[in-house]
Amino acid sequence: MLRFFNTLTRQKEVFRAIEPGKVRMYTCGPTVYDAPHIGNYRAYTFEDLLRRYLKYRGYAVTQVMNLTDVDDKTIRGAQRAGLSLQAYTAIYKRIFFEDLRTLNIEPAEYYPAATEHIPDMVALIKRLLERGYAYRADGSIYFRISRFPDYGKLSHLDVRGLQSGASGRIDSDEYSKEDVRDFALWKAWTPEDGDVYWDTELGRGRPGWHIECSAMSMKYLGPHFDIHTGGEDNIFPHHENEIAQSEAATGMPFVNYWLHCRHLLVNNQKMSKSLGNFYTLRDLLDKGFKPKGIRYALLSTHYRQPVNFTLEGLRAAESAVQRLLDFMANLQTARGSGFDVEPLLQQTQARFEAAMDDDLNISAALGAIFEMVREVNRALAQGQLSAADAQQVAALMQRFDTVLGLLTPEEAPVSDTVRALVRERQAARQARDFARADALRERLRELGYLVEDTPQGPRLKRL
Ligand SMILES: [Zn+2]
Repeated sequence: MLRFFNTLTRQKEVFRAIEPGKVRMYTCGPTVYDAPHIGNYRAYTFEDLLRRYLKYRGYAVTQVMNLTDVDDKTIRGAQRAGLSLQAYTAIYKRIFFEDLRTLNIEPAEYYPAATEHIPDMVALIKRLLERGYAYRADGSIYFRISRFPDYGKLSHLDVRGLQSGASGRIDSDEYSKEDVRDFALWKAWTPEDGDVYWDTELGRGRPGWHIECSAMSMKYLGPHFDIHTGGEDNIFPHHENEIAQSEAATGMPFVNYWLHCRHLLVNNQKMSKSLGNFYTLRDLLDKGFKPKGIRYALLSTHYRQPVNFTLEGLRAAESAVQRLLDFMANLQTARGSGFDVEPLLQQTQARFEAAMDDDLNISAALGAIFEMVREVNRALAQGQLSAADAQQVAALMQRFDTVLGLLTPEEAPVSDTVRALVRERQAARQARDFARADALRERLRELGYLVEDTPQGPRLKRL
């Protein structure tokens, strides 16, 4: 029986879908102001594992992942880059989707962008105003936490303790709040927002971050759905606020199972740009690491354990993936007889499923697979594995791989020649030798690449 640790109840619970055979789940997605770092991908890889295992177990999954494309960070970033908000966030949306493909993360069914759902958020805020859960102050609108006695049930915080000043986050423009704990649903336009605002029934302004996830999850999944995921840093205040907004508006329970993954450390330290241990996916690819190794490194630690990410660990992850790939190749050579593989297959599948059923115990699941690999390799080496049995082993490995996503071939890396041409073209552009730059672009096209010039420099696309 499939069981998950539910942050709401602080225990492992048997998973029961609201509608038999179907799972509706929501995942907090990226704020598209920067290239995500590998800590972000730890969360997205965990959610991918969850999604893939639900499908393995026969559920039809509808997953929604939002794109936060308006908030303080995106607005400031666009202003600094001298771009419109839309042009600026488009860059990071594209990087995000490229990274998902690189890491073999299955696409969600919906990727709603906040800026395309302002009317849904306005409608939800209006409902909260009508029901007395929200109030206006100086043009902004706030959620009235004192009206929602369940506030704190997810984070298990005693929120009565969060009195004035205790939260340490009093914005100068929020002095007008009734209670310091109250959070903004709608932020009135200020000059710093520049041309980023919407003129709505609520006034001129923009939505708060929390309301975005309530509005978009309920739009695509209904007011009450199965699973909500995120990183542990989302629990408070973001998910606590989502529950308050959604349940106050509908009077219904919002989500049945809340799953949160622990953070990622680099060399046992919090990742930060100042410590020099901050990696984006691209940083690792530029160091020559392979996507499947990175995927393995991110998903092979149980999601409720912190991942300690190191380059040595990444090399070990790459060799684990290579062992699996070599194994698949070796199976093709089986021509022997004398080994009955059937009991081993049954046992391995049972162990894999029991482990994954137990709150996605990936380490035990991988342990079962590698044990099978060792046994079958031994039979292969002794010439005891028949071609038919080898095919059965390969079929089971492929079935496991619908969950792991490690065996599909990597895209060939970009060659040094192509990289050199890109650098040469960039130099020509900087020297304003556009004829030469165009000629180099043409040569790259002949080699099968399209060069796109972005504010971050040239980007290659395979034709
Ligand atoms: Zn969210």
